[in-house]
Amino acid sequence: MARKIILVCDKCGKEVEEARGAVLRVTYSDARRGSKQADLCDSCAGNMPGRAVARRGRKPKSVA
Ligand SMILES: [Zn+2]
Repeated sequence: MARKIILVCDKCGKEVEEARGAVLRVTYSDARRGSKQADLCDSCAGNMPGRAVARRGRKPKSVA
């Protein structure tokens, strides 16, 4: 039996339910510094700075 993986929010330490939460990924402009990421619960993710980013791969259609 596969063990259930319990995700814990990296900010508040709360357990993140399956299919919930978010991953915050920080990528440095200096590629040598690499990147880091944090698992966040829904409420912490909402409180993080940032803006909505369009999904990759499709250009937004102009509204007719
Ligand atoms: Zn949290």
